[in-house]
Amino acid sequence: MYPKIHYPIQELNKIQQLIELGGSFIEHEILETVHFRDYQLPLYLLKVGAATPDKPALALTGGIHGLEKIGSQVILAYLESLLKQLSWDESLREELKQVQLYFLPAINPAGMIRKTRANGNGVDLMRNAPIDAETRVPLLLGGQRLTTRFPWYRGNRDNMEPEALALCKFVREKLMTAPFSMALDCHSGFGFNDQLWFPFAYSKEPIHHLPEVFALRNLLFETYPNHVYTFEPQSRVYTTHGDLWDYLYLEAQESQTMFLPLTMEMGSWQWIKKNPRQLVQLLGFFHPILPHRIRRVLRRHLTFIDFLKNAVRSYHNWLPSSQQRAHYELAALALWYDQNPAKDAD
Ligand SMILES: [Zn+2]
Repeated sequence: MYPKIHYPIQELNKIQQLIELGGSFIEHEILETVHFRDYQLPLYLLKVGAATPDKPALALTGGIHGLEKIGSQVILAYLESLLKQLSWDESLREELKQVQLYFLPAINPAGMIRKTRANGNGVDLMRNAPIDAETRVPLLLGGQRLTTRFPWYRGNRDNMEPEALALCKFVREKLMTAPFSMALDCHSGFGFNDQLWFPFAYSKEPIHHLPEVFALRNLLFETYPNHVYTFEPQSRVYTTHGDLWDYLYLEAQESQTMFLPLTMEMGSWQWIKKNPRQLVQLLGFFHPILPHRIRRVLRRHLTFIDFLKNAVRSYHNWLPSSQQRAHYELAALALWYDQNPAKDAD
């Protein structure tokens, strides 16, 4: 056990509380210690349930951008409710023998303390992978190597940041070794709607597992017709350099593993429209301020995360067969890549 320490960010304190609450239902390790000012900040990995490495795996990650605390809080709210349920629900205990659930709720604790998107070294971890966009990226936002004084700084190509390296190591060791795996990375701050993005961010080309992603999208839309999400490749919104999920997806594909990373962008512009005061409060731009709105945001995503847990556990039942793949691929190309097979035939 690690000694309980009081940290200046509530999310790390909450993680320690949940480790205590979870007892034998939760395992934890510290993947990396981030040194920032006088602090030694732990990068926690938590695992829930009794599943063994031969089971499919889902990872929930948050706080890669220090300002976007609501992502961490959504993950912690889900974890807390799961742990409470595990204390009495035998069916859930049985279920969690069949799926590995990993939580990395606060990947950038130094950024959380600084109230910045970047980490303690001024690097945007989601621009830090050694991968360049194939197309023109939006100025600055797409990633830049000019100065740490602007956001979206990519850092050193040959020396990735410790937080990014720890995340990559975790994905290689725990997700890429599973028979099927997914990640959901929780962000906030872009757009009016809640959005789900899949790779690529660096390219407008479709990914190899487009049929599988399309099947997942259909599964969500059919199971929860009143869901709130748009679902599309990130490159349809904007392209970037250095996306960690692109980098890891490509690596997994090389090793013939099916690893599907999703990014959830909680649309914070809606919060600002409803509460213009948020504009003048730095954190508020990325985080709902009013307590009832925080509760609503936490609540609204729990169903989706639970859906994802079930989809990963039962992946055999919805992944397209080899006969279905071509059909799914055509439908997905028409939906997301403006490739209409009928038009091509003219
Ligand atoms: Zn973000």
